[in-house]
Formats: sequence, structure tokens, C-alpha cells
Amino acid sequence: MQISGFGEFDIIEKIFKPGFDHLIPEDVTGIGDDCAIIPIDDKQSNLYTTDLLIEDIHFLRNSITAFELGFKSLAVNLSDIAAMGGKPEGSFLSIGLPPDLEISWIEAFMQGFRKLSEKEYVPLLGGDTTKSSCGIVINVGVRGTILHQQIKRRSAALPGDIIAVLDPLGNSAGGLQIILNHYPDHDCHANLLKQHLTPYPKIAEGRFLAGINKVHAMIDVSDGIGSDLKHIANASDAAAEVYLENIPLSTDLKELCRLHKFDPLKLAVSGGEDYTLLVTIDGLAFDEIAMHYQKQFKSYLYPIGRILEGEPSVVYKKNGEIVELDADGFDHFA
Ligand code: ADP
Ligand code: MG
Repeated sequence: MQISGFGEFDIIEKIFKPGFDHLIPEDVTGIGDDCAIIPIDDKQSNLYTTDLLIEDIHFLRNSITAFELGFKSLAVNLSDIAAMGGKPEGSFLSIGLPPDLEISWIEAFMQGFRKLSEKEYVPLLGGDTTKSSCGIVINVGVRGTILHQQIKRRSAALPGDIIAVLDPLGNSAGGLQIILNHYPDHDCHANLLKQHLTPYPKIAEGRFLAGINKVHAMIDVSDGIGSDLKHIANASDAAAEVYLENIPLSTDLKELCRLHKFDPLKLAVSGGEDYTLLVTIDGLAFDEIAMHYQKQFKSYLYPIGRILEGEPSVVYKKNGEIVELDADGFDHFA
């Protein structure tokens, strides 16, 4: 059987994970959350995460500037630290470069990488640099820290929780469609492209939510809520219900979809790369937490569904009726 018939998450769960469980100390969390968690002392833990970006798989060299790609390479990793509620402390960059690449490209890449590093006070601490025979290959790793009692795991959702997201969904997927289809310029493009090319990780928001006990589970939306909410349901052994009429959509995305006849909900649920956070919050505490959040960030916590008792699953409803949505989220091998 080929890898393409197996699925990204089956490869991780069935091949990568099982052989190592016996080597993992009881107080360490390995594969299965946005970061690995390793205790430092009785107060704090280290968080570790790493992500790979490969030319022609994750980006097209002519469709993203080197500056934007440098920014985004760090952003997608800081997003995983944000998803635990953590504080990023340092990054590592390993990069494979084709020998004919211009020096100005890598200088601009590092300017983008440095821009976000400076904004979030995350120094580059090391890495590796090699020649590549197959395009540009970028691997970033980030270490973060967090207080034990603030860690927000994918497995912490409880029946009765409200599921919420911090931003309208699908903008990045809309930006990707603009790039892939070479649509002529339109007013609705700028924000969608910005969110696709230079997503800003929700570190401050994640740390704020980490400080609230009644915020239970958290994950960053990298593959689309169709996939990311399934991770929460599976890890928490609970069912999730999403109310499609509650999914926040930007006016720019709606306009793009109207012009080019896309279903905005499909982009919102399965598009991916939004790099916002999805959280589950005690249903009784939601209104008050949403009010504090709004005061702090001048932005909404959008409730989009509920966690229920039951087998791990994600069900979509429209006006109370279950609807079938072909929206699993992104899987590299599906
Ligand atoms: P994220 O989207 O948050 O980066 P993924 O869905 O890519 O996370 O990965 C899910 C989990 O599987 C994470 O805990 C990640 O560290 C782990 N993982 C992914 N690929 C590998 C691998 N090749 N070896 C070990 N662990 C892996
Ligand atoms: Mg993640």
C-alpha cells in the first residue's frame, strides 16, 4: 500500500507514535498536541514544536515574496506555541537552498523572519544550512514555556463547552484561491492575501485565554476546523456540533466567493492555514469570558458550536438540521 492511501494522521498515529510510548516519562507529553510538553520544575514546562515548509507543496516561489515566506515560516510555529497558551522563547531554522538561488532572496527571507522575531522577542538560536537539489526546504523549531496550570491541551474539552474561534474563517483559503487562479485585482483581495501570506500568530490572545481556568481545550486552526475540531473531539473523547450559520465569514471572503462561485462555508471549514485559535469554554462562563476578551483585544470570541457527550465525532447543523459537509480539512496524503 502506498503512503497516499494511508492519510497523514494514520501515519503519525499508527507508525510514528506506537514505538516510542514506552520511552516517554510519565510527566512528559509527546506526539498528539500542538507542542510536546516537558516539565522544567514544579511550576513550568518547556514547549517544543516544529513545522516543515517545502517548495511547491506549501508555497510557490513566484507567488510569495521571500520576506513573506520568512515571516510565515516562523508564524506557523509560533501559532503552535499560542495554541498551548505558551510564551515563545527561541527559534531554530534549518534550511535547504538550491545553489542557484539569489543571495538577495535569502536576505529578504531573513528580514521577514526577523520582523516577527523582533515583534515577539523570539531570538534565533541555531539551525542548519545545506544545499538542496529539490527546491527550497524550510524547517523551523520553536521552544516556549508555560506554567503547568495554564497548559491548554486538545484533550481538555468537556461536554457543555461552547466551541469558539478568534477570527472569521476561510480568509487564508480565499487568498490561496486568488493566487492559484490568478484573479485580476479586486478590492476584496488585499486582506485575504495578507492573511494567507503573512498570518499573525495569536500569542497574546493564547496567553490571555491560558490564564482562565474555564477555557478548557485549545488548538490552532492550521488544517481547517473540519480537521482541527476532529483532533479536539478525538483527544477529549467527546462529540462536537458545529452550527454553520454561526461560522464567522469576512465580507471580503463573501465577496470573493460571490464573484467566483465558491462556497464560503466550505473554504471556512476545510480551507486551512487560518492560524487563528479554536477554543472550548465552559458553557456557563462563556458570556463573561467573551466580554473580557472583547475588552482586552477589541475583537470577538465567535461561538460556533458545542461539545456534547458521545463518541468522538464532528456534526454540522444548519438551522437545527444535520447537514453533510464534504469538509475534512487538509491532509497531505488524503
Ligand atoms: P500541527 O498541525 O499542530 O503542527 P500536526 O497535525 O502536524 O500538528 O501533528 C500532530 C501531532 O503529530 C503533533 O504532536 C506532531 O508533533 C506530531 N507529528 C507530526 N509528524 C511527526 C513525525 N514525523 N514524527 C513525530 N511526530 C510527528
Ligand atoms: Mg497546531
